[in-house]
Amino acid sequence: MDQFVCASANPDKVAEIAALLDGLVELLPRPVEIPDVVEDADTLAGNARLKATAICAATGMPAISDDTGLEVDALDGAPGVHTARFAGEGCSYADNRAKMLHVLAGVPAAARTARFKTVAMIVWPDGTELAVEGVCEGTIAESEQGTRGFGYDAVFIPSGADGRTFSLMSEAEKNEISHRGRAFRALVAALR
Ligand code: IMP
Repeated sequence: MDQFVCASANPDKVAEIAALLDGLVELLPRPVEIPDVVEDADTLAGNARLKATAICAATGMPAISDDTGLEVDALDGAPGVHTARFAGEGCSYADNRAKMLHVLAGVPAAARTARFKTVAMIVWPDGTELAVEGVCEGTIAESEQGTRGFGYDAVFIPSGADGRTFSLMSEAEKNEISHRGRAFRALVAALR
């Protein structure tokens, strides 16, 4: 099985990525001594490339990264590339969800459309790269529902399911339809 170093240090994302790639590729953890990569590109692909390139250079091994953004139509596509810090530098997941519900207060259900986009990327030591995108359309709920998952899961209702937020789904149910699930399945297909 091909070996890749995981460029993400976020344990919530690593758990999902490991489940998605289980049995398909061998995913090695990101070495703890590698410092955080500053994600200051203005696109998801740019940030995914910064992470994968840094981890590949530090380890000499091909690295897998991902970067995700939430685009809310009523906010003209924001927070997008700024999704992690929507409520400000150093904010928590709960702060971000609270801000999202606050800025959409009074916006009717039909106008709360949004989508998660994930760019998944592999960078090899010779500079070759492979990038794919996964999208999950949905709506922003009017209140938090559920406790599983992370980030905006409790306020995101994916389209084409049964109206539950990601936080009310099992990990397997989420992975089946999520942006990250779609992106990593496309990445594995493109590798073959
Ligand atoms: P990242 O840049 O890929 O780490 O993602 C940016 C932010 O998007 C994270 O800090 C989370 O708040 C949010 N996010 C990413 N993936 C998910 C997800 O699957 N569910 C809910 N929120 C997510």
